[in-house]
Amino acid sequence: MQLEVVAIGGYEEVGRNMTAVNIDGEIIIFDMGIRLDRIMIHEDTDISKMHSLNLIEMGVIPDDTVMKNIEGEVKAIVLTHGHLDHIGAITKLAHRYNAPIIGTPYTLELVKREILSEKKFDVRNPLITLENGNKLDLTANITLEFVKITHSIPDAAMAVLHTPYGAVVYGNDFKFDNFPVVGEKPDYKALKRIGKQGVIAMVSESTRADYEGKTPSEGVAANLLKNDLLGTDNQDNGVIVTTFSSHIARVKSITDVATKMGRIPVLVGRSMAKYCGIAQDIGLVKFPKETKICWDPSSIDKTYHQIMKEGKENYLLIVTGHQGEEGAVLSRMATNKTPFKFEKYDQVVFSADVIPNPMNSAQRYLLEARLKLMGVRIFKGAHVSGHAAKEDHRDLLRWMQPEHLIPSHGDFNLTAAYTKLAEEEGFRLGEDVHLLRNWQSLKFERVL
Ligand SMILES: [Zn+2]
Repeated sequence: MQLEVVAIGGYEEVGRNMTAVNIDGEIIIFDMGIRLDRIMIHEDTDISKMHSLNLIEMGVIPDDTVMKNIEGEVKAIVLTHGHLDHIGAITKLAHRYNAPIIGTPYTLELVKREILSEKKFDVRNPLITLENGNKLDLTANITLEFVKITHSIPDAAMAVLHTPYGAVVYGNDFKFDNFPVVGEKPDYKALKRIGKQGVIAMVSESTRADYEGKTPSEGVAANLLKNDLLGTDNQDNGVIVTTFSSHIARVKSITDVATKMGRIPVLVGRSMAKYCGIAQDIGLVKFPKETKICWDPSSIDKTYHQIMKEGKENYLLIVTGHQGEEGAVLSRMATNKTPFKFEKYDQVVFSADVIPNPMNSAQRYLLEARLKLMGVRIFKGAHVSGHAAKEDHRDLLRWMQPEHLIPSHGDFNLTAAYTKLAEEEGFRLGEDVHLLRNWQSLKFERVL
């Protein structure tokens, strides 16, 4: 048998994830994502008219032209979850492969929306839904299994390829959350079973491999939000919370607190409506029944007018724009481009970390400065990450005991931190831990 793991994207950066696994000429592709910071795409930006080759040149999507050098036939494109750094390049690249796109129900609903909004390419690959906990034969020799894990978006999966030679595990992205607000905790039993059966190779995210300890549960973020929102004298003031529109568990926690405060939760913006609407439609989450969702500019304006007329203290707004992105809902509100008017002692809660790049930091600084000038009270810190930290990774390594380990989803600092942790667990760089750069591959032979 010949197994080859090809690093296409996400091995020199956080973003644009794409990996190919070639097993005796049968190729399975994992993820096709974009790199958000490359063109400062924020949650409401449109790349639908842009061509693949331009986007590859700009470093926005993975450079999959490397696939020309790989001998074999692509049998499936497997998506682990609905974040754009994992599915955002589907509309630009998938049509080049004669293969189905496979994902969990929520992931595929998001993919369908991406395909509908694409203006340059016609993506006609069959879409196959695979629920977590289920298996699907991809070829006579390869069976795909989705293992339920937790992350900052619902319905995320760890993808496992069962082959006659053992399993190949693709763990990009995950955290181990035993108290998730939406969905269930990870399927530890399945993870341990797969490890016992034998893992030839594992690709693992390393985004937070430099953090000591264990990533806190989403339940912790829910309590931090309660502390900020229920523990502040804000009864007579406007309250606005900003977070990732795809973070359904977080939005659910915010709407629940709004209800406790006697306020009507209002989800504002196109992406907020898209991610939350789909999650509610397919039964992943139930927002309080009085929740209002408004997405098109006229209904948003109408809602703002209504809020200003009836009194801000009756509502809690949940909006995009936590990075300070120009044109996002919160920035527009802060620059008086909407009928909503901030007043002294209004409360803005940032339930998200700044993604650390200088442009984000500058935009966020500007946003906060504007809000402060209007006397708005700013709250930060009601956030936990969706990515595994060191001790989560250590658990997974102990369960899986892979023969070969390939850190991904990070630059050198992160993949090196992961490698250091793996060495603590008995692995050795160059022997069974392999640091790949984009376009490099790892090949190994194995006899049955
Ligand atoms: Zn993710």
